[in-house]
Amino acid sequence: MNINLLKKELQYISHKVYQKGYTQATGGNISVRIPGTDNVLIKRSGISLGEVSREDTLIIDMNGEVIEGQGKPSKEIGFHLGIYKVRPDVNAVVHCHPNYSIGYSILGMDLPLPTVTARKLLGYVPCVEEAPSGSKELANYVKEAFKEYPDIKVTLMKNHGICAVGSTLESAYNIADLTEATAIQAFIASQIKNSVNVPITQ
Ligand code: 13P
Ligand code: ZN
Repeated sequence: MNINLLKKELQYISHKVYQKGYTQATGGNISVRIPGTDNVLIKRSGISLGEVSREDTLIIDMNGEVIEGQGKPSKEIGFHLGIYKVRPDVNAVVHCHPNYSIGYSILGMDLPLPTVTARKLLGYVPCVEEAPSGSKELANYVKEAFKEYPDIKVTLMKNHGICAVGSTLESAYNIADLTEATAIQAFIASQIKNSVNVPITQ
């Protein structure tokens, strides 16, 4: 496996998440399993996804020990590693803070799935309990959701964000992308429903 290529892909996906507006400031973190090893590549803590370069990625083992790279790994390594432990089908995790998905998470509800696309590709999107970012408690809530529902691809995280997974970085990104699009569509539909009896010119 060419580790440099994987670092480049992590950089590319990080920039895409930021440029699409799916996270702000230094929020969000992304990781990927390194094929053929028990190690994971993850971004360092405290850097904007919009600014991540290959030098901002660290190699860690399944206990969270840093094997290679500068700085501290993302504070959310707990749920990244937790998901890899309970879901052997998952090779990449994208955690970000997209606004409309967060709106539904603030209500503490599972994500509404109004479209055939969302129902087919997302299936079920539970909302996990709130806990401080970087806490063991949060890591446990997220890990347990992926364990309890072995087919889910994404969770809302109450008052915080979303956690999307995939067999590749690209597929985890696509799940995050579709999750936020679905939240926007559900919101638009709810607004139209509320205003449908009001003439357009008023
Ligand atoms: P890190 O910068 O440590 O990855 O944290 C960002 C974040 O989104 C915490 O939930
Ligand atoms: Zn976060």
